[in-house]
Amino acid sequence: MTLDLHQQALATIDAAADELRLDDWMRALLHRPERAIAVQVPYVGDDGEMRVVPGYRIAHSTARGPAKGGTRFHPDVTAEEVAGLATLMSVKTAVVDLPLGGGKGGITVDPKRLSERELESLTRSYTRAIAGSIGPDVDVPAPDVNTDTRHMDWIADEYARVTGAPAPAVVTGKSLAAGGSLGRDTATAAGCRTVVLASAHRLGLPADARVAIQGFGNAGAHLARLLAADGLRVVAVSDSGGAIHDPDGLDVAAVAAAKARSGSVVAHGATEIGPEEVLTVDCDVLVPAALEGAIDARLAERVRARLVAEAANGPCTPEADAVLQERGVTVVPDVLASAGGVTVSCFEWQQNLGGEQWSAAEVARRLDERMSAALDDLWRVSESRRLPLRAAAAVLGVGRIAAALAERAGVVEEALAS
Ligand code: NAD
Repeated sequence: MTLDLHQQALATIDAAADELRLDDWMRALLHRPERAIAVQVPYVGDDGEMRVVPGYRIAHSTARGPAKGGTRFHPDVTAEEVAGLATLMSVKTAVVDLPLGGGKGGITVDPKRLSERELESLTRSYTRAIAGSIGPDVDVPAPDVNTDTRHMDWIADEYARVTGAPAPAVVTGKSLAAGGSLGRDTATAAGCRTVVLASAHRLGLPADARVAIQGFGNAGAHLARLLAADGLRVVAVSDSGGAIHDPDGLDVAAVAAAKARSGSVVAHGATEIGPEEVLTVDCDVLVPAALEGAIDARLAERVRARLVAEAANGPCTPEADAVLQERGVTVVPDVLASAGGVTVSCFEWQQNLGGEQWSAAEVARRLDERMSAALDDLWRVSESRRLPLRAAAAVLGVGRIAAALAERAGVVEEALAS
């Protein structure tokens, strides 16, 4: 499974490289990470015993700027998986045209079995182990699966101790007190909202288009609230506890209150539907915002939306993608539809570098502007090359990385010639 992800990332690169007719040396650079380190991470258990787990930090590309990408704590983390995720981050930051490359890190550990004190010991030890490979101009970690502001604050603090100077721009996703950005919590949803509204407009969907959202967590719940405020009708939502439906539109605030009260959206009291039905219900826009691989070919045959916006990472299997394309359903791929988080991460890094603190309104304005511009770019490549949006995104991202590589090579050639 972990191998699949890396192979999938390489297949994405290869397809784009074919379309762009890239030279072999560029393909070779894109295939392997620029820098990859594997480290041993010793930490102190609550029983006083030392334990050691493996960790990784991989910078796939810094051609367009410092590597950027999350830090994952999970028992299944492998070097292969981290390399695949780092590769996808290079494409993602390039699609949104951020001045960043792609990276990823991880520790092979089950954090649910660790106390807060053990987690801190582990995170600080990991930071010391990778300190020589990260930095505001080199590689800037962020949160990912099972890591949050606490871990990022520990990384920033430990990095400052190692280097002897505070450098908040070394990591993003920090708490506000430690130099985090306003708007980070809602960034993924806000970015996806821009993508949904602009895409719906392009497709001529009505202003009160009906939306179904799978997943009511950080991404899904904020998105439901934002789209309802925009006048769209959220007709179905789900979480791991079940799914609900109201063809006239759910009261999203009441759904959120019901979930806060009881743990699941089903407590809201609207008509309960099967968990898969949220994906196949009659609607105009479908937003999978929960799980990887949620829509397979069988479900794709039954999707009734005209627009699918991938707020989750990899929610459509390759087979489902082919079916949706065949059926004329427009799919805005995850590299753009879920890129609001990394975009505000970039803003946090920029604020730290400039010693600034932007207002929430300023962050929202810049995010909307960046996501709109990226969607326009994506649509233009899709139309000019007659490619579905997913393939166009790969061409757009890989093309931008290749252009930066070519520029770098030109500088090297000039230096050698002089
Ligand atoms: P989250 O843990 O906050 O929420 C996940 C939601 O999915 C929960 O409501 C959970 O109940 C629901 N869920 C789980 N299993 C389900 C199932 N079988 N059927 C229906 N719902 C189910 O996670 P999140 O941060 O909202 O992330 C969701 C997706 O978006 C993930 O794929 C994540 O990688 C992606 N994403 C998130 C961010 C971000 O900044 N939060 C950024 C980029 C991508």
